[in-house]
Amino acid sequence: MAFAYDDSNIFARILRGEIPNDTVAQNDHALAFRDIQPKAPHHVLVIPKGRYVSFDDFAANATEAEITAFMRLCAQVCTLEGIGLEDGEGFRAITNAGHHGVQEVPHFHLHIMGGAIMGPMIG
Ligand code: 5GP
Repeated sequence: MAFAYDDSNIFARILRGEIPNDTVAQNDHALAFRDIQPKAPHHVLVIPKGRYVSFDDFAANATEAEITAFMRLCAQVCTLEGIGLEDGEGFRAITNAGHHGVQEVPHFHLHIMGGAIMGPMIG
């Protein structure tokens, strides 16, 4: 299966600076910004700056530098938001992929949500 990337998706447009975002942190390979419709008191999206459709595309095809930078930015978000287990009460990190995953934006992103006890995973 090919991972056909659509450059017109909203996160590609955010990365190109065509639409604004509320940036939390970034590094050479990844950007973290607040979800426009937060589902938790803290709801940050972490995206790679490269053209990856989904988690499986990213996991299969990203470089080690991209993967490391992405994961380190996730850790930084947890620290900055005060939701990591080092000094906070915890969080949920999820990614939706494709039709069954109900993925809305076809650019890989991890939702990091915290600040309250999360509800059930499905339902
Ligand atoms: P998905 O269902 O693809 O995992 O989630 C996409 C997320 O992107 C949703 O939580 C939605 O609120 C968020 N989103 C959609 N459009 C925008 C936007 O223009 N800016 C920001 N910051 N978030 C967006």
